[in-house]
Amino acid sequence: MKVEVAAATDIGLVRDHNEDAYLAQGPLYAVADGMGGHLGGEVASATALETVARVLTDAGIDALADAVRQANRAVYDRQADDLEVAGMGTTLTAVALEGSQLHVAHVGDSRGYLLRDGKLQLLTQDHSLVGEMMREGSLTEAQARVHPRRSALTRALGISGDIEVDAFEVPLRAGDRILLCTDGLSGMIEDRRLRDILKGRTGAPEVCATLIAEANTNGGVDNVTAVIIDLVAEEGDNPAPVETDISSAEPALPPEKRGWFRRCFGKQ
Ligand code: MN
Repeated sequence: MKVEVAAATDIGLVRDHNEDAYLAQGPLYAVADGMGGHLGGEVASATALETVARVLTDAGIDALADAVRQANRAVYDRQADDLEVAGMGTTLTAVALEGSQLHVAHVGDSRGYLLRDGKLQLLTQDHSLVGEMMREGSLTEAQARVHPRRSALTRALGISGDIEVDAFEVPLRAGDRILLCTDGLSGMIEDRRLRDILKGRTGAPEVCATLIAEANTNGGVDNVTAVIIDLVAEEGDNPAPVETDISSAEPALPPEKRGWFRRCFGKQ
């Protein structure tokens, strides 16, 4: 198997800052959606991704969850030290590929999805007020989409020195497509439409661009970020599950586009 990756972030049509950021530094991929004040959101999401990238020791699940806890501590300490970013926080949905195993560590309302055999599966739980109400059965998805407090989080990095991290593993196989995205994407595109776009047989970069464009066509009320990870079968692959050395895979992103970064377009 080989891995093909594409990632993009966009300020959207309404906001004047892009507080989202992503990381595409195989085997580690992540999205973060920052919040808080003037500069806070941007600093929070960047701090979280920089920290995860720096401290991650291996692609195992324990190392990934620990890196997310260290990222929480870094955001928390930074906002405690600096009045300009006091109270900032961020979501973080991070995955690490280890062979054909996907490790996921997640806090907040950004999302991870798996498209397999044409079916779209949400891998993560939203740590948000509306997410909890939906799990309790007191709110439908349609109601959640228009709820006035739909962006209120129940868990985020930077709020306290300790954090509970959802950490789990998903066995992958050739043909799987992973989407990591912020709520500016999942909130603007309904699941059925999201599935149809992801099912399109186009490559990861085209799908990524289509998702961003569609979120903006639907209003673009928030920053929008997507990372697509495709596991592509190669000639000579054993059809049985095989251990794959992902680390030797050719990076699909050009070198200057690897690593954490954020693109802000100069829309006013
Ligand atoms: Mn957002």
